[in-house]
Amino acid sequence: MMPVVHCPKCNREEALDRVLTAQSNQNVIYKCPHCAYSKRQIHTSKG
Ligand SMILES: [Zn+2]
Repeated sequence: MMPVVHCPKCNREEALDRVLTAQSNQNVIYKCPHCAYSKRQIHTSKG
């Protein structure tokens, strides 16, 4: 089951893989495809 995230701006949900972009320095950028909202350094909870 694909985890989804809700955009804090437009409140739509989207699959995690679609909105999160991992960078080389392990930062993750969230970008909403619906409203183009973006936010840096999302910390995903692993384990
Ligand atoms: Zn949005």
